[in-house]
Amino acid sequence: MMLDKGMVSIGALSVGLAQASLDESLKYVHERETFGKLLKDHEVIQFMLADMKVDIDAARLLVYRAAALASEGKPFTLEASIAKLFASEMAMRVCNKGIQIHDGYGYIREFPVERYLRDAKLCEIGEGTSEVQRLVISRELLKTYH
Ligand SMILES: Cc1cc2nc3c(=O)[nH]c(=O)nc-3n(C[C@H](O)[C@H](O)[C@H](O)COP(=O)(O)OP(=O)(O)OC[C@H]3O[C@@H](n4cnc5c(N)ncnc54)[C@H](O)[C@@H]3O)c2cc1C
Repeated sequence: MMLDKGMVSIGALSVGLAQASLDESLKYVHERETFGKLLKDHEVIQFMLADMKVDIDAARLLVYRAAALASEGKPFTLEASIAKLFASEMAMRVCNKGIQIHDGYGYIREFPVERYLRDAKLCEIGEGTSEVQRLVISRELLKTYH
């Protein structure tokens, strides 16, 4: 039960990190100009922002689902593990895009997006690695077949 709650917390942490990376990216694309236009006006950048938003929203809903079950005192091992696995891997994808949008400036420590990626990596490791989450999910899933 404690580990299940920890998994939901790591899921929430992942969502927060990814949201912070998106927020920083949204700010940056309004400031940085390349080839005579702001980054926000390049379609490839717009698509990256859209993918980040979709990924974050999906993870957020999975975390809310697991947290709601926990609050109601219902079993939530499977949902917590799904939320943790998806949200932590989502945070890696999103924070990686955040660095790509900032490009060279994303790699250096003067901008916070590089730290978000490092912190997101921890979310794939702590409170059960992604490999262990896949074990938990498959175990719970296999129990449902009679
Ligand atoms: C920044 C940071 C902070 C941390 N804070 C804490 C903390 O506060 N409290 C705490 O208790 N721990 C903490 N940890 C430790 C973390 O929980 C462990 O690193 C994590 O559980 C993985 O254990 P390990 O590093 O020994 O890897 P190992 O268990 O050696 O795993 C190595 C690799 O093998 C895979 N693996 C291992 N066993 C299996 C298996 N049965 N099936 C499939 N794959 C498997 C793993 O997924 C991983 O890819 C922290 C780690 C980091 C990086």
